[in-house]
Amino acid sequence: MTDYAKPLPYPDADSAPYWQWAKQRELRMQRCADCHQVRFPPRPMCPACNSQRDEWVAMSGTGTIYSWIIVHPPVLPAFAAEAPYAVVLVQLDDDPGLRLVGAVSDIANEDLAAGIPVEVWFDDVTEEITLPKWRRRRA
Ligand SMILES: [Zn+2]
Repeated sequence: MTDYAKPLPYPDADSAPYWQWAKQRELRMQRCADCHQVRFPPRPMCPACNSQRDEWVAMSGTGTIYSWIIVHPPVLPAFAAEAPYAVVLVQLDDDPGLRLVGAVSDIANEDLAAGIPVEVWFDDVTEEITLPKWRRRRA
C-alpha cells in the first residue's frame, strides 16, 4: 500500500475526525452541537448559528448520484493510466444538502446517470489514509 502514488488528502484540525472515522469504516459528518445542522466540509464555526461546538455523527452511507464528470487527458500524471475516469457527486440520503465528491468503482462511465443509488465503501490507500468511495447500492 505504501506505493500509492496519487495525491492524498492532508487532514487538518477541522477535517482530521472525518479521516479518522473513514479509517474505521464509518462515514461521519460534522454536525453543529447547538442547532444540529450537518456541515461539509468540516469547519470551526456553524454557518447557520455561529456556534463553535460540534459533534461527529454517523451517516447512513447511502445516497444517489446527483451529477458526474468524465475526466479525460490531460490529467495529473498519477491519474493518467486511469483516464478517462468518472468523478461523481453523491447526494446523501441523510440530507439532500449534503453532497460529496468521490470516485465510483463499479459503474462504467457510459452507464452513469443521475439518480443511481450508491453506497459508500472504504479504500485503504495507505497506512494513514482511507478514502470513502462509492459503488452501486447492493441492499
Ligand atoms: Zn449551528
